[in-house]
Amino acid sequence: MTADASIASELGIYVCPVCKGLLRQEEGVLRCPTCSQAYPIREGIPDFIREELSQSKDPVLRRMRFIDRMGRIYETKLWYPIVLNIFGGFRSPSLAQLVGIVSQKVQSTQGRVLDVACGPGTFGRRIASPSKEVFGIDVSLGMLRQGAIYTAKEGIPNVHFARARVEALPFEDGLFDATLCCGSLHLFADTVLALREMARVMKPGAILAVVTFTAGRGGILKFCRVREWYRRDQGLHVFELPEMERYLTASGFEDFQPEVSGSMLTFSARKHAA
Ligand SMILES: [Zn+2]
Repeated sequence: MTADASIASELGIYVCPVCKGLLRQEEGVLRCPTCSQAYPIREGIPDFIREELSQSKDPVLRRMRFIDRMGRIYETKLWYPIVLNIFGGFRSPSLAQLVGIVSQKVQSTQGRVLDVACGPGTFGRRIASPSKEVFGIDVSLGMLRQGAIYTAKEGIPNVHFARARVEALPFEDGLFDATLCCGSLHLFADTVLALREMARVMKPGAILAVVTFTAGRGGILKFCRVREWYRRDQGLHVFELPEMERYLTASGFEDFQPEVSGSMLTFSARKHAA
């Protein structure tokens, strides 16, 4: 399969993140006929980010080279379990348990699932099924490449990857039946802006399933000074529950259902019905 042929099935789904025009496939790029912007396809992965993230003011995006390199170890015991224990506390759910919790939240969903900041498809490819087609977006090409390697190896057909920012999703309004955002909401510079863009591409009543951190009772995040330092120096936002509910309400979501374990927060919410 050539890199270009591999995205043929997603043509008609991706739109220009700037003007929302339908894209045309030309040699190695997706071109917007409306605003003329061209988006390269790198190894079968469309790239919708035109700016150089290493120059970003956002401390998270500036670390892109490090994040790109982490793709290969992200799901191994060298990374995910360590992060869960340090930040969430020793009673944090394991990755497998978190996948189980998130799967349950979207169990009855059929159709298209958006996986925001999907990494190597950590949650999305474990949730994909014949009735759930997953579209993963991430800012890191290294993570996405690793995701493509895993899905090929595991023989999962209905997972698609694209490089895009949560603030400018390459999808039309009301496309998705569910959205996952697992392990990244705390990293977005503007939480409400990110949630609003997710709500835009979701159908009315669609479910949002999130794994993030809260100022709970486990791990180093139980210490106020640690949370403050991470926020100031690392761009890591540790949410209080009432604060999270306010952000959701401001972004067009309702029915906030939080579960806290140590300093890990999993929750679901629904986009307002029309
Ligand atoms: Zn355009």
